[in-house]
Amino acid sequence: MPTPYSPSGRVGSNTFLLLIPMLASAGLLGAVYGVAMHFIPVMIIDAALVIGFVFASGWAAQIVLRVGKCRSPAFAIFYGVLAGAVAIALSHYVVFELSIRNLPTRPTFMQYLDWRVKTGWRVGRGSSFGRGMHIVGSLVWICWTAEALMVLIGSALLARKQTSEPFCESCERWALRSPLTFSAPGLSAATVERMRSGSLEEILSPPLSEIDHVRSQLRYRVRTCPSCQASNYLDLEHALVTTDKKGKATESTTRVGPTLQLAPEELEAVRQLGEDISAILAAKLADDAQPSLDQPQAKRS
Ligand SMILES: [Zn+2]
Repeated sequence: MPTPYSPSGRVGSNTFLLLIPMLASAGLLGAVYGVAMHFIPVMIIDAALVIGFVFASGWAAQIVLRVGKCRSPAFAIFYGVLAGAVAIALSHYVVFELSIRNLPTRPTFMQYLDWRVKTGWRVGRGSSFGRGMHIVGSLVWICWTAEALMVLIGSALLARKQTSEPFCESCERWALRSPLTFSAPGLSAATVERMRSGSLEEILSPPLSEIDHVRSQLRYRVRTCPSCQASNYLDLEHALVTTDKKGKATESTTRVGPTLQLAPEELEAVRQLGEDISAILAAKLADDAQPSLDQPQAKRS
């Protein structure tokens, strides 16, 4: 019986070494964001900048945690919040410096905050927003709070996601090599639903009669440790292709069940299932091609 993968909770010693350069780069990211926010008064671009900032901050945290081999979700959340806080603080500091650069006397940061809350920002001036919108008073604080919460929560969640990737504890490596990936197209929604439980028995015995060339597939992906190849993990993903009125196809994918740790014989069973499915698909393809192959032959004779 395979057990769902859960991270060991260990923090690699490299994670701590990387902390200082990474907090510096989180600060740099915040500074760049601050400059962009200061010089671009267009609301729609600013909104896109906030979202871009959240993802950039989260991805930067993911890189450190991957390189630092961190398997502790708690530490990842702590790190994501810390990096997000440094980035936000630097962005405010940069906007402060840019706002006061032409003043004859240098105000304190608190005086600047007071002035900013009283005068606010005018967004969307001279555009389709007409005379624009004036954000002032408590609205300024609401904007700052919403921005900070988005960055802190976003980078914490993205950072934690990294620690859910499978890790080989005996080799101290991420098990990210994918030697075995295949799809099972045509499985019914009920079959896919049964696999959410993470029962390998269900996962390895889908009703093969359902396999067909259709636009819904169940993808099996095994990831393995690049060193020992004894640590193997299985992920399932359900992909559905839908076509709109203009004939444009879009694919939506959802995860099915948890990441499972596979024993060697279970890995072999997954490999066997992949071979069975491709044999069925090849046979169906030959069946479908049969009539069109027969026709020209009949004409020729
Ligand atoms: Zn290994």
